[in-house]
Amino acid sequence: MIGVVKIGGASGNVIDPLLDEIARRTAAGERWIVVHGASGAMNDLCAERGVEIRMVTSPSGYKSRFVGAKERELFREAALSYGARIAAGLSSRGASARQFDPEAVNYAEAKRKDFLRECVNGRTRILRGNYSGTVTKVDAAFLSDALAGGIVPVVPPLASDQELKISLNVDGDRLAAGIAAAVKAEALIILSNVPGLMRNAEDSSTLIKNASFADWDILEHYAQGSMKRKVVACREALESLVPKVYIADGRVKDPIANALGGNSTCLVR
Ligand code: ADP
Repeated sequence: MIGVVKIGGASGNVIDPLLDEIARRTAAGERWIVVHGASGAMNDLCAERGVEIRMVTSPSGYKSRFVGAKERELFREAALSYGARIAAGLSSRGASARQFDPEAVNYAEAKRKDFLRECVNGRTRILRGNYSGTVTKVDAAFLSDALAGGIVPVVPPLASDQELKISLNVDGDRLAAGIAAAVKAEALIILSNVPGLMRNAEDSSTLIKNASFADWDILEHYAQGSMKRKVVACREALESLVPKVYIADGRVKDPIANALGGNSTCLVR
């Protein structure tokens, strides 16, 4: 089995249950790629260095982080240090892990969004000098080679800008979707600090367990805030022929088994 699992970077996410399970599963011959977020590590680093965090909401309701030149460097540092913790955690559990960096190995490319649109009190303004990007290409070769060698790739939410020759901050969920498609994964599991997509984000009894393309309007209706991007990422993965995509809880014991076992939102075409 080849699978891609994305672990959130926001506070409230925990990594130990996932690392325990990945180490066990890879020892048993399964192949997993870990893609991770970095928002919590970035917020901590900004607080430590006295850098103000700027979150902007687009006119269509998507929230993103404004990443100026200084923030780009900090985001890269935060992402790589969080990834190093994940890789070290896997190694200490007996798994071989390799941390990927798009400035060293060109496994993912992105196009820069040099400005963001911000909607404040119903008015739109343009914020220039942004250094986040949208993933345009994933090269499966480097990741597949690592998998074939029994190595767990640990992938940060970064992709390289071919013109600027630097890494840009990208959405980790959408990068995970691109990677799952490129390596022809059987499943993409997006773990977060909630049981899955819920009708009411505050009430776990409203978990939506199964859905397909036919239900997409409903899913988009229920997803608020940062969950909106996860739903976009799920759709992109399914459209690129990843057979099953799960949104599931990363805080439980054996989060992969929990997701695959039905205690999650399972999405199919
Ligand atoms: P991560 O950093 O783990 O990737 P995010 O913070 O980006 O996670 O997204 C998860 C958050 O989305 C949850 O903590 C929850 O507050 C929010 N959310 C919004 N709408 C929903 C919904 N319908 N169902 C579940 N969670 C939702």
